[in-house]
Amino acid sequence: MGELAINLADRARSISASPTLAIDAQAKKMVKEGIHIISFGVGEPDFDTPEHIKSAAAQALAKGFTKYTPVAGIDELKEAIKDKLSNENGLDYQTSQIVVSNGAKHSLFNAIQVLINPGDEVVLPAPYWVSYAEMVKLAGGIPRVVITREENDFKLTPAELEAVINPNTKLLILNSPSNPTGSVYNRDELQALAECLVRHQLIVISDEIYEKLVYDELEHVSIASLGPEIKELTIVINGVSKSYSMTGWRIGYAAAPDPVAKAMADLQSHATSNPNSFAQWGSIEAIRGSQTPVKEMVAEFKKRRDYILERLSAIPGITCRKPGGAFYVFPNISAAFGYSYRGEEIRDSSDLARIMLSHGRIAVVPGIAFGVNDYLRLSYATSLQNIEEGLNRFEQVWRTLLNN
Ligand SMILES: *Cc1c(COP(=O)(O)O)cnc(C)c1O
Repeated sequence: MGELAINLADRARSISASPTLAIDAQAKKMVKEGIHIISFGVGEPDFDTPEHIKSAAAQALAKGFTKYTPVAGIDELKEAIKDKLSNENGLDYQTSQIVVSNGAKHSLFNAIQVLINPGDEVVLPAPYWVSYAEMVKLAGGIPRVVITREENDFKLTPAELEAVINPNTKLLILNSPSNPTGSVYNRDELQALAECLVRHQLIVISDEIYEKLVYDELEHVSIASLGPEIKELTIVINGVSKSYSMTGWRIGYAAAPDPVAKAMADLQSHATSNPNSFAQWGSIEAIRGSQTPVKEMVAEFKKRRDYILERLSAIPGITCRKPGGAFYVFPNISAAFGYSYRGEEIRDSSDLARIMLSHGRIAVVPGIAFGVNDYLRLSYATSLQNIEEGLNRFEQVWRTLLNN
């Protein structure tokens, strides 16, 4: 390869390619060759968007609601979000403090762009969602990764947070329920973190995209609801993608103190302008309409979680915490390290993911993609039948591996 004709900006060079890209490419190649792959890699619900939501968007389209809207979203949607935050989360915001964007990912990007200066440190509890670290780097910030403990359900403690705070620390990114671990922080845990954040006047971005996907008696709590001081320091991020199976619609939102919300809307006005016009009407129906489809989806996810957990826990050498939310399990697979499968040694989570694909014909995401190596992420956003067959394959490879 010769010299590049075009020199990319430093910003572009700082972005890491997704660590799962090689495995994705391999999986696609195998599918093309006619090999039947079961995927535990999916990051979106496998259900269709509920009919009443689709028809609300279709009606908006039919009525000619096809033009630019206000940058931060139409008033009707911001009112629906305002009411939702108030009724479900105990959070009172003005509509001017709500900014609707092209998915929660876009909301996160906007928030980080308007908050982070070069050199600012952002605390990322690991395992973390891949995009956080890249977004922080794109803003010139420095990800300060804190590896949480499996024994503590991968939840950051105030002592762990306290230990990394320095004069450059600006912000913490919290994600509860979590992707990839499914962990859910309870009220007391959030209260303890909030006290620390308030004491140091640190900002927190609270990614609550999996809010509705919680199981058993667990309750989702927004850290912003724990008092006026922490609310003033919180940017709440949420959206319709995961709760209503609307990942392709691209509607997410942020609720934030005035200057942050205004800066996010101004930034968005020069980048993407408003989010899709008729998807906003679909989202109003999602938020205000019947919540029965959500309940049905949660019941189905819970069944799958219980099954997958039972199966994984029965496999010698594997430990797996019980996820309280989202649709992922995050088993510890480090017992496989040092073993070989047909001459290929397993040194890390990527090696195991590769072997699982080539010999087990199942796609899983290596833990290293989330900043920790001893784990795999398996999504259960696929049918129970697929889960059963996929776990049979997983178990077969695993047992062969550990007998070598
Ligand atoms: C899926 C996901 C998002 C993004 O959701 P969109 O609204 O589809 O952009 C944000 N955070 C986490 C942790 C996610 O898993």
